[in-house]
Parts: sequence; structure tokens; C-alpha cells
Amino acid sequence: MSENVEGNIQEFSYKAEMKQLLNLIVHSLYTHPEVFLRELISNSSDALNKVRFRKVTDSNILEPEAELRIKIEIDSEKQTFSIEDSGVGMTQEELVGNIGTVAKSGTLEFFKTIQQNKQTLDGNLIGQFGVGFYSVFMVTDEVTIETRHADADSNGYRWKSKGESSYTIEEIEKPTRGTKISFTLKDDAKEFAEEYKVKSIIQKYSNFVDFPIYLGKEQV
Ligand code: ADP
Ligand code: MG
Repeated sequence: MSENVEGNIQEFSYKAEMKQLLNLIVHSLYTHPEVFLRELISNSSDALNKVRFRKVTDSNILEPEAELRIKIEIDSEKQTFSIEDSGVGMTQEELVGNIGTVAKSGTLEFFKTIQQNKQTLDGNLIGQFGVGFYSVFMVTDEVTIETRHADADSNGYRWKSKGESSYTIEEIEKPTRGTKISFTLKDDAKEFAEEYKVKSIIQKYSNFVDFPIYLGKEQV
């Protein structure tokens, strides 16, 4: 864990539509909790693609030699899960603007329709539809994001939320570029701290990812 630099933690409130979306996501997707991992891997992959491009166009980049990779760590005893990438990371403005906002237009409508028709989503429908970062609240009650943007003169930030009505952001000392997302799994999702389970889900998606994915020390 990194140290808080400023000693001041800022609190932000979600917009009303965000709370609604979160509720709908959790209630529509509960039969497919493993999609959280696909969404987190896909976000890391996007961030790695962005930094790969940036490396070509920008010489003032943090850790230019860092391997472009995704690292997942689990602890079945503590029921903890983390995913870390050496991607482009986020500025404070991006944390506020991109996390905690309804990413795609139509997302809210999509989930409302599902809800109103009492439809259960099948795997195929979920697959076609990006669910986004907030699907992580299917498997945990509180998420921590630690991130530092690839700009060499960026700062590190820690974002924390219980997904309810607000989140906090504080500045931290973070020497490395990219984003780490960590949380403790709910009891009914503790299988996602089991190696065989996580490995099989990673294998399902890794074909679509251009970068190595490590589970602990081992590349999957
Ligand atoms: P989408 O990926 O469709 O934009 P998400 O809810 O999955 O929607 O993510 C929202 C945004 O949060 C992303 O567009 C990106 O800007 C930011 N983000 C999420 N995860 C990461 C990450 N690992 N590294 C950098 N930015 C991220
Ligand atoms: Mg995404």
C-alpha cells in the first residue's frame, strides 16, 4: 500500500443515474458474476493499448521500459483479488470523469429494459454488451483503485468506493505507471480467489488480449 501524501481525502457523490445503473447491473448480472473479470481485463487491455501508442508519440513518459502486462493476484485465505496493469493510468480528472459515470450511452436503457421485462441475461447477450467497471460490485462491497498516469510528471491517486452513494480520492506516493484495482471478495464470490477458477476464466478471454497475463508469477 502506498502512503497518503497530502493527508486529505476528498469525497465525491455519484450522479443519481449512476446509483440506478449500479443497482440494475448487480441485480441483472448476478447469474454471471464472472463477467467482472472479463471487464477488468478488457479495461487493462485498453489502457495498455493506449500506452503502447503513447510510447511512440511521447518521449516524456513514466517508466518507458516497463513491460506491458497484466498481473492478477489472489489469496484464497484472505479472499482478496487484485489486478494490476502497466497501462496508461488515470489522472485525477479521469478518475472523476471516467470511473463513476455512465460510460456508454444506452447502458442505462439497456438494463432498464432487462429489468422491466424480468429478463435474465444469457451469457451471449452479456458477451455482446460491455458491462463496464461497475460489474465488480457483484463480487465485492468495496473497491480500491490506485493509479498513476503515464505522463512523467503525473501524481498517484487512490480511489475508494463502496458503490453506494459516494467515492473518495486521495493523492498517494505511487512510483509505478498504470492501475491497480483491489478488493476483498464477498463470501458468495470467494471462488474468484481460487486459482483453477481464475485461470479458466483468464484462458477464456486471453485470446482477445494482446498482452501477457500473469496469475501470481505464472503466465496464463
Ligand atoms: P468502458 O471500458 O466501456 O469505457 P468501463 O466502465 O469499463 O467502460 O470503464 C470506464 C473508463 O474508466 C474507461 O473508459 C477508462 O477511461 C477508465 N478505466 C477503467 N479501467 C482502467 C484501467 N485499468 N486503466 C486506465 N483507465 C481505466
Ligand atoms: Mg470497459
